[in-house]
Amino acid sequence: MTAIAIDGPAGAGKSTIARAVAQKLGYLYVDTGALYRAIGLAVFEQGDDTADPDVVIPALKQIKVELRFIDGEQRVFLNGRDVSADIRRNEISMAASNVSAIPAVREFLFELQRSFAKNNHVVMDGRDIGTVVLPHAQVKIFLTASAEERARRRFEELTQKGQQVDYDTLLAEVRQRDYNDSHRAVAPLKQADDAILADTTGNRMEESIEQILKIVEKRLCDVI
Ligand code: C5P
Repeated sequence: MTAIAIDGPAGAGKSTIARAVAQKLGYLYVDTGALYRAIGLAVFEQGDDTADPDVVIPALKQIKVELRFIDGEQRVFLNGRDVSADIRRNEISMAASNVSAIPAVREFLFELQRSFAKNNHVVMDGRDIGTVVLPHAQVKIFLTASAEERARRRFEELTQKGQQVDYDTLLAEVRQRDYNDSHRAVAPLKQADDAILADTTGNRMEESIEQILKIVEKRLCDVI
């Protein structure tokens, strides 16, 4: 099986690019952030503090997270309920970042993530795919862009969905999530030694997709 790992901070364009690469190659696209978001949502809906391991760890016993692929599109189920839309709410981003810093949460999701790559050719995006989840992935990309540009993209995306958001708040949240994700003790966000760095600042999305497709196709020719 072939695996392509795309890691990087929030808003770098990972999901759009990973989806396009998967479509082009006929691979399965797995968005691992959705799994952390589902756990963040579960704890948030209970009204509990998503950063408190003493409430999050016991809550895992009542949580079943599944990914189902319907017409090639990933849907996320929390205890049988389709939460694919709910997990995209802005307040769930920070909840996901909070729960993801708890090692027991990462362990809880580890095998599930690995199982997709055992049975399918995958493009998987996240924060620790190339470093921890799929260290033997044939292609690893570390995708980034400036914090300002990532906040602006997020602003446009959420505004288009009808969510009321403020640019400066989003920028502060992007920076906070970057900090949380790269400073946690377990599986922090960092570029794998053998990952190719791609900075999408200033690029249109179609240009970034082209750029990454070229890198992926070249790497696949070299390694397969
Ligand atoms: O990618 P997305 O923004 O949906 O991820 C939500 C949060 O889940 C991230 O801020 C990060 O804290 C966490 N995450 C992670 N490891 C992954 C994917 C996401 O810690 N592989």
